[in-house]
Amino acid sequence: MCKKKVIKLAAVLVLFVSVTLSIWICKNNNAHYECTEYAMNTVIHISASGKNAQRAAEEVTEEIRKIDSRMSAHSKKSEIYQLNLRASKEPLKVSDEVFSLIKKSVYISEKTNGAFDITVKPLADVWNITSENPSLPSDEQISDALSKIGFRNIILDEKNKTVFFAREGMSLDLGAITKGYAADRAAEIFKKHNIKSALVDLGGNIYAVGKKTDGSKWKIGIQAPFKKRGEYFKLYPAEDTSIVTSGAYERYFEINGKIYHHILDPKTGYPAQSGIQSATVVCKNSVLADALSTAVYVLGKEESKSLTDIFDGIHIIILTDSGEIIEY
Ligand code: ADP
Ligand code: MG
Repeated sequence: MCKKKVIKLAAVLVLFVSVTLSIWICKNNNAHYECTEYAMNTVIHISASGKNAQRAAEEVTEEIRKIDSRMSAHSKKSEIYQLNLRASKEPLKVSDEVFSLIKKSVYISEKTNGAFDITVKPLADVWNITSENPSLPSDEQISDALSKIGFRNIILDEKNKTVFFAREGMSLDLGAITKGYAADRAAEIFKKHNIKSALVDLGGNIYAVGKKTDGSKWKIGIQAPFKKRGEYFKLYPAEDTSIVTSGAYERYFEINGKIYHHILDPKTGYPAQSGIQSATVVCKNSVLADALSTAVYVLGKEESKSLTDIFDGIHIIILTDSGEIIEY
């Protein structure tokens, strides 16, 4: 083969390799990955775009499952289960992760005047909303449960990372923030993998990472209560933020035409009745958005207003019983 031909062949080869490589890189950079899972008693949708989208989404799924069992009050291996079993007898040492979540919860309880309270578990057990044959608890059952709740009875020792319950029979339920915590962890994992566009939806508890791949903001639909899933009463443009909605329409039972749902008012002992159908909170921290959406649902439209003075950068969207949309 003459020298010229060899050079030509080498050039063609280099061109071929570089074109193939750039197509591969380009494809990988724009890779889109979507999956649907079931965890935390809800359907979870994850979508991500960019290089490593699949790997990041798989890591997110694994982390969600781990959080589900770490924070569960039912799994015997979880620290929460152990606390509920033993923390009214002696202070128990917990992981930094659990300690900081409980500490944050107590802080939010103080700021929401106890509307959000993770010590609500004895009450949630009495109502047992999701049981197959739910029934109305008696007044005695409710007043007995009320005597066992109250966030001020959680005694935290920052130095030794211990938790102690000042009252016998107390127990914790992190159900109102677990999905928010999982959404925050998901956003962190996507950022670690340098994913610029992703969405995680844990049954209405959403984290929008970056923007859509076309450069526009995510449009997050807020579920219309008691309507078909996916029917929205509002679309919210979102970028790098969490959007969490609490409502009575997901978990409830009905007796004599009256609905008894899963968001409890720690003051009355009954499902919250504050005149609103759904409460949405938008903010960068999904634990806060999750806790506050529960609190807003309990507090109602008037009392919730001051939350925007207490917590920086939150946005509240309330749908009242009469169908009015109020935003703070
Ligand atoms: P969802 O889990 O449907 O998203 P929430 O985030 O509002 O709804 O959390 C409701 C769950 O939290 C209940 O199932 C119960 O376990 C617990 N819970 C109920 N009422 C309260 C309350 N006032 N404060 C804290 N947790 C609550
Ligand atoms: Mg919540």
